[in-house]
Amino acid sequence: MARINENYLKLQAGYLFPEIGRRVRAYCEANPDADVIKMGIGDVTQPLIPAIVDAMHKGVDEMANADTFRGYGPEQGYDFLREAIAKNDFQDRGIDVSADEIFVSDGSKCDSGNILDIFGSDNKIAVLDPVYPVYVDTNVMAGHTGAADENGRYEGLVYMPVTADSNFEPEIPQEKVDLIYLCYPNNPTGVVASKEMLKKWVDYANANGSIILYDAAYEAFISEADVPRSIFEIEGARDCAIEFRSFSKTAGFTGVRCALTIIPQGLMGTTSDGTKQSVHALWNRRHCTKFNGVSFPVQRAAAAIYSDEGKKQIKELIAFYMNNARLLRAGLTEAGFEIYGGVNAPYVWLKTPDGISSWDFFDKLLGESHIVGTPGSGFGAAGEGYFRLSAFNSLENTQEAIARIKKAFS
Ligand SMILES: *Cc1c(COP(=O)(O)O)cnc(C)c1O
Repeated sequence: MARINENYLKLQAGYLFPEIGRRVRAYCEANPDADVIKMGIGDVTQPLIPAIVDAMHKGVDEMANADTFRGYGPEQGYDFLREAIAKNDFQDRGIDVSADEIFVSDGSKCDSGNILDIFGSDNKIAVLDPVYPVYVDTNVMAGHTGAADENGRYEGLVYMPVTADSNFEPEIPQEKVDLIYLCYPNNPTGVVASKEMLKKWVDYANANGSIILYDAAYEAFISEADVPRSIFEIEGARDCAIEFRSFSKTAGFTGVRCALTIIPQGLMGTTSDGTKQSVHALWNRRHCTKFNGVSFPVQRAAAAIYSDEGKKQIKELIAFYMNNARLLRAGLTEAGFEIYGGVNAPYVWLKTPDGISSWDFFDKLLGESHIVGTPGSGFGAAGEGYFRLSAFNSLENTQEAIARIKKAFS
């Protein structure tokens, strides 16, 4: 009999979103007339901007013509895209990242999971709590943990709680950690990291030979001037960090698929006998062996984000979602909620009223206001007592949701 990877059996059944779906279905069956507004799952709602649509059409036309047809492209991505990213997202902002340090891929979810391929199995791994579940589950699959306890925390992982009590700043763990997952602007809490906070982590990583896995999927939603958009804005980060970025939320690419991972040329890991090895070279080897590149029309589409038209349209798109976030913040505050996030991220993280549990608040919000959100406890034990609402919606739905919340809670 073929043996399976038994680490998969440690995974808790994809609990969060299936359970939300089950409760919403049950509610809708019992209340067929309820007009339910979904503010739960973090997916974009607006169509692709015209600059992207045009570029993708042109990319298809190039594929339809014998003179411009392309087969396999470079696994790391076409130069036209890598150079546009390096220039616009980094060099023009004074951040030292070159095109050959960028690996274009079909998603940050995959990259942030696949990156474990190039790291050993005896690293100490630190994650925020609440956390984007992909970081945790991929470490379970790779055999880096023991079993889960009754709070859903896996033995062997180092959890760094982030709650209002600590101003959502993770504390540096007591024990030494080797791989540190950070995500800013943060999903699910919507909060950001200051330069000072990131500097503390970069200094820690450099002093301990650790590597920071920095997820900047929501970088485009940053509205405040002094908020770092990349870990590589921090001095010393090129010696200790990998950054993941995605066009998914920035440009509505969740269904198109294009992202990137940045690994500085000089970033080093170590072997068991202490020899230094290039992390960039290892990832390049992995990427070229297990991946064959993002489709050509999609890379053309992604590059269009950096045209003058594209930049203008992306700005409007982000402003549309962030106006929803602003309205949500204002409405929830008026209704008396304690809220976080929503200024530099499309998520508002609220404290449940009267200390009720995240799931009880879920049921109450669905039952009284016909609104679906995401229970904070689904993102980790320290998310208990919190709740996430997403600004990815139409303006009408956002306004209607706010009116209902005010009516039910004010
Ligand atoms: C949405 C999201 C991503 C993007 O994943 P893709 O695979 O590129 O769509 C990455 N990280 C976080 C935290 C996200 O919420």
